[in-house]
Amino acid sequence: MTSSDFESLNLKPALLANLSSLGYQQQTAIQAQSLPIILTGKDVIAQAKTGSGKTAAFALGVLQNLNVSRFRVQSLILCPTRELADQVAKEVRKLARQIHNIKVLTLCGGVPMGPQIGSLEHGAHIIVGTPGRIEDHLSKGRLVLDELNTLVFDEADRMLEMGFQTAIDAIMEYAPNDRQTLLFSATFPPQISKIAARVLSEPETIKVEATH
Ligand code: ADP
Ligand code: MG
Repeated sequence: MTSSDFESLNLKPALLANLSSLGYQQQTAIQAQSLPIILTGKDVIAQAKTGSGKTAAFALGVLQNLNVSRFRVQSLILCPTRELADQVAKEVRKLARQIHNIKVLTLCGGVPMGPQIGSLEHGAHIIVGTPGRIEDHLSKGRLVLDELNTLVFDEADRMLEMGFQTAIDAIMEYAPNDRQTLLFSATFPPQISKIAARVLSEPETIKVEATH
């Protein structure tokens, strides 16, 4: 049996304290099944329906791997749309509230370049964004992933539906091999296994069936 109490996880004390102050008492099913594996550093493919708490599952993995005193991009979270990237960034900031001086930056398409370039010059620990714009910043050398420790694909099914396959392949050229990769999706069309085979290394697959 999987314990659903956050306290049973080997999370940083600041994260545990914050979860409790946020009123997150019990892990959701996908969290209880994926977090213990994510926290071992393994690559994970996780499938669960919308609204099941997937964001906190990967965000806690990202925050656990983060060294805030090292001001370099350590995590990249790829999302299909700007709206979703904004939601994810909000949840990451909420979960990181007790980690001081953490910088989470969103980089999405459809937003003027100038301010994004300025923000990148200031630096960030965690980048959340859409694949096309991330690829653009990488190809111009404005975003450097040399110290990336965690790469997340959120809503991977939708990213593929939206035609981000080529941008994702290009981004992979810049990501260090020595990293943890987490892939989250609500559905699992055949295309996902193909991308998973390319981006993840010996992943554990977790699927939470919808309850009726
Ligand atoms: P998904 O990405 O699976 O669609 P979200 O990550 O957006 O789902 O989570 C849905 C909602 O549940 C969010 O408002 C989030 O803050 C909340 N939530 C996530 N995990 C927990 C938890 N363990 N306890 C209470 N609320 C949670
Ligand atoms: Mg989600």
